[in-house]
Amino acid sequence: MCGIVGAVAQRDIAEILVEGLRRLEYRGYDSAGVAIVDADCNLERVRRLGKVQELADAIETKHVHGGTGIAHTRWATHGEPSEANAHPHISGDIAVVHNGIIENYEVLREELRARGYVFESQTDTEVIAHLVEWERRTSETLLEAVQKTAKQLEGAYGTVVVDRKDPERLIVARSGSPIVIGLGVGENFLASDQLALLNVTRRFIYLEEGDVAEITRRDVNIFDLNGAKVEREVTESNAEHDAGEKGKYRHFMQKEIFEQPTALVKTIEGRVTKDSVITDSIGLHATEILNKVEHVQLIACGTSYNSAMASRYWFESIAGVSCDVEIASEFRYRKFVTRPNSLLITLSQSGETADTLAALRLAKEKGYMSAMTICNVAGSSLVRESDFAFMTRAGTEIGVASTKAFTTQLAALLMLVVALGKQKGTVDKALEAEIVGEIHKLPKQIEAALNSEKEIEVLAEDFADKHHTLFLGRGEYYPIALEAALKLKEISYIHAEAYAAGELKHGPLALIDADMPVVVVAPSNDLLEKLKSNIEEVRARGGLLYVFADEGAGFVSDETMKVITLPHVSEITAPIFYTVPMQLLAYHVALIKGTDVDQPRNLAKAVTVE
Ligand code: GLU
Repeated sequence: MCGIVGAVAQRDIAEILVEGLRRLEYRGYDSAGVAIVDADCNLERVRRLGKVQELADAIETKHVHGGTGIAHTRWATHGEPSEANAHPHISGDIAVVHNGIIENYEVLREELRARGYVFESQTDTEVIAHLVEWERRTSETLLEAVQKTAKQLEGAYGTVVVDRKDPERLIVARSGSPIVIGLGVGENFLASDQLALLNVTRRFIYLEEGDVAEITRRDVNIFDLNGAKVEREVTESNAEHDAGEKGKYRHFMQKEIFEQPTALVKTIEGRVTKDSVITDSIGLHATEILNKVEHVQLIACGTSYNSAMASRYWFESIAGVSCDVEIASEFRYRKFVTRPNSLLITLSQSGETADTLAALRLAKEKGYMSAMTICNVAGSSLVRESDFAFMTRAGTEIGVASTKAFTTQLAALLMLVVALGKQKGTVDKALEAEIVGEIHKLPKQIEAALNSEKEIEVLAEDFADKHHTLFLGRGEYYPIALEAALKLKEISYIHAEAYAAGELKHGPLALIDADMPVVVVAPSNDLLEKLKSNIEEVRARGGLLYVFADEGAGFVSDETMKVITLPHVSEITAPIFYTVPMQLLAYHVALIKGTDVDQPRNLAKAVTVE
């Protein structure tokens, strides 16, 4: 979940490490630390509770110098956020940073205590430091010590080790948490995400599961699970250099909301012609596979789950293929039945979501005909382990609350549904041309939705002093309501729930009063009349309504109902379009409340732990 950065160079690397951490801070952020070794084998460790800036200030005051070092931002899993629990952890000459969880740490800790090691933190990570120190005593090299250590660790980890007495190298091991090596000229780097290194290099090597690598200024040597030396492909990144910067925006989340029109253009590019979807662009053998699909199983967590939920309506109504959606953490621990010719689709922004990845691995053993992923990060674990990947190309998303990743996932899903419908014969040329036409219009329409920001900013004031909010929708707009509620709770800490409006009278109506604003996603469609009855049910109980609709829906503002009128868009793409005002609402409520929008409390960006 956290961020790792490392460097071996001739120059002072403190600033590179800190800049890397800043770029990764969105992933985990309760504390941060560095350990840097200079050419005289002096190891200086600095750790701070709180934000990376606290650490940066401390490093500057202490004048930390050296060319080899490791750095970490922590998202605590074992032991409270504190300076003592912050990484790096040290044992003798060894310093270690770690991303993930060591599941057998209790057993290892007892064994290490019996050998005389004293534990200074409550973390699982500290066992790695002591184990490497122990193994180092009987190993020829630090690499060998880490390889022996890795064999004893159970769980998910990415870990980097430096030995004060051997300042020429870093050893890094990957098992379940991503690690990328950045290649420089006469210097090399590593990180848990390439984003951390984009200001120093564009050339990357992704480690694979079980790899252990030795990184010096001149060389990178990689060894697989069995200790055999292996070559891993070098990739050239084309990620934008300024992806880690906010530019003119106040928050990354705001920037990412406003990037949606351009992000969508990239998602669509090369995937559609003027009037058709290019099925082969969906992935290797997509045409062949889609032809055989009789059922679709979508697996995801959080925001990605909500986009999967929305697409379910499309899979069944447009492509005529049965579709199930399940939360990854439920799916993976349930004895499920695999349907014949079922296509498994995982969805994840980062491609590293631990539960989703575990679900994919499990499903591959359970007879799914093929495993596809819809993902935003090239080279991520989901992408590498799936049979084919449909990349959303939203660009780097830093705000913890996902925005552009969601709308681009929906656009990708809609294109997939059309491609599937074509293979199944449920989407004819006219319908395909109609849907593709609407997909082309989306970026401009989203720009128009963004123009409602001022109006929503004013509206947000009504919510900021409330403790609860209820979101309602029907059909495809129910998942949009789910996503709206998730956004609001994530960043404003207001308790928010979403209901399929037809469920109101089965419970939530009991909650309605003047202190519970009710937001309704209500564009004109077949279910509008039903939804209007639900709205009346709320009104009759003294509820305050905020209705997002188009002109055709025929709502008029009065003292119990504020209507936010948006331009009319086709029913096909309206779920994507209506997401945008919901994002803006959550953002502006959070702004008024003064919460940490980009790094909300207790959350992390890429959820690489279970
Ligand atoms: N499990 C480790 C800890 O709690 C690492 C957490 C992380 O990935 O930041 O310190």
